[in-house]
Amino acid sequence: MNHTEENSDIRFDVAVVGGGLAGLIAATLIGRQGRSVVLFEQAKQPGGRAQTTVKNDVRFNLGPRALYQSGDALRLLRKLNVAVQGAPPNAGIPLGYYQGREYRLPTSLGSLLTTHLLSIRDKWKLTRFLKSLPSLKTESLHRISSLEWLTDHFGTGALASFLGALFRLTTYAGDLSRLSASAAIEQLQIALGGNVLYIDGGWQSLVDGLREQAHQAGVTIRSSSHVTAVESVSGEVMLTTSRGFVETVTSAILAVGPDAACSLLRLPADHELVLWADRRQPVRAACLDVALTQLPRPGHRFALGLDRPLYLSVHSAAAHLAPEGVAVIHVMKYLASNTIESAGGVEQELELMLDRVQPGWRTHLLTRRTLPLMTVAHSHPEPREGGINGRPAVTVEGYPGIYVAGDWVGGRSQLADAAAASAETAAQLLLQSMDSAPRSDHQYV
Ligand SMILES: Cc1cc2nc3c(=O)[nH]c(=O)nc-3n(C[C@H](O)[C@H](O)[C@H](O)COP(=O)(O)OP(=O)(O)OC[C@H]3O[C@@H](n4cnc5c(N)ncnc54)[C@H](O)[C@@H]3O)c2cc1C
Repeated sequence: MNHTEENSDIRFDVAVVGGGLAGLIAATLIGRQGRSVVLFEQAKQPGGRAQTTVKNDVRFNLGPRALYQSGDALRLLRKLNVAVQGAPPNAGIPLGYYQGREYRLPTSLGSLLTTHLLSIRDKWKLTRFLKSLPSLKTESLHRISSLEWLTDHFGTGALASFLGALFRLTTYAGDLSRLSASAAIEQLQIALGGNVLYIDGGWQSLVDGLREQAHQAGVTIRSSSHVTAVESVSGEVMLTTSRGFVETVTSAILAVGPDAACSLLRLPADHELVLWADRRQPVRAACLDVALTQLPRPGHRFALGLDRPLYLSVHSAAAHLAPEGVAVIHVMKYLASNTIESAGGVEQELELMLDRVQPGWRTHLLTRRTLPLMTVAHSHPEPREGGINGRPAVTVEGYPGIYVAGDWVGGRSQLADAAAASAETAAQLLLQSMDSAPRSDHQYV
């Protein structure tokens, strides 16, 4: 049977809408427990924002990607037997730009001693902060912004700018006034505690591995299937696709963004999820992805703007992403949520960052692309919402049998780790609630 066809007679237990990391993880976890699962993905291929595209033999993730080694995504990928191959960033001498000047970033004891970025007093303060970081308690910091916390503890000079850049680097938040201090500090603890991996072959290799495991768990993936409505009817869940196909299941997980989830369920305007979705501010970024035949300054493979929200990293220095010798560079601007930037203006700023770190790069250009407005995560963990704890739960009030998952759901982790953690929680709750229900065992109805 061709499982991409919609007209099968199989009666499934569970439907998952969305084939990004969250949907693939949730579907595989449920399939492994013997429940029959159908996954709908509107695009031609699953993967969502974790897809990698190949251009001139170069593998470009959709902007820069770093997988947290002590995060929930890697834990679940390993649990699901997905092979994860890659290496931590290989930065060379990392650079920081502050007040128009280039500095060596203090990322090791040696560079801390030699950098001209910080005064002796600031170097001592930074050492003391990094020593206290692993045991720093964050319970009282959910409703304080990371900007306020930084200013209170470190003022407004170079040290505060450096720590602000580290908060941006680990959370992608373009606006530190919208990032709760607890979320910023916890993410820094995870990053400095376990480092990150750049993945060989790009994040597509994670998608491909998950897809394979989903297949082995018996999950049916229906690509090019756009779900238009999800209804709870007499204790069952009915899904309708844009081609008019109707699937009836016991439970469903909506692993899509918050607006899509609200619209699929046709939630009333005063539903708490709709009100939250209206208030939330997405985390967004503009990216310039570049491949060069050689690096003009091979010793400098990582850079951050300290008083500008800019990032650059040579991902191919750690991960296999291109033929030998080709440098794959991701340049990014962390965008503030409530400002609209012109695509041309932001591209110029990204090119300027590349000019600074790798002057003359245009001579070695193999291929490039610009992604001026990317949704990194569907919501900031905002102080006014109580940080990560303010995100919606995986259950939807008033809609039994229906769960949501994604990087905007649940009180654990951020970014892909939040997508994975919420997928796991949704799968666990769904399986618990189905435990007493009879199994369909792929029966034909
Ligand atoms: C530039 C950038 C950099 C990032 N860097 C990092 C990083 O370094 N580390 C990290 O941990 N995370 C990072 N992330 C975040 C990470 O990529 C996401 O959190 C994660 O991929 C989200 O997975 P998801 O499954 O929740 O959502 P998605 O990947 O968005 O998947 C949702 C899927 O649902 C499908 N869909 C939507 N509506 C429907 C419908 N009605 N019917 C059928 N299908 C539907 C979509 O097509 C999509 O495939 C980054 C993201 C970006 C954009």
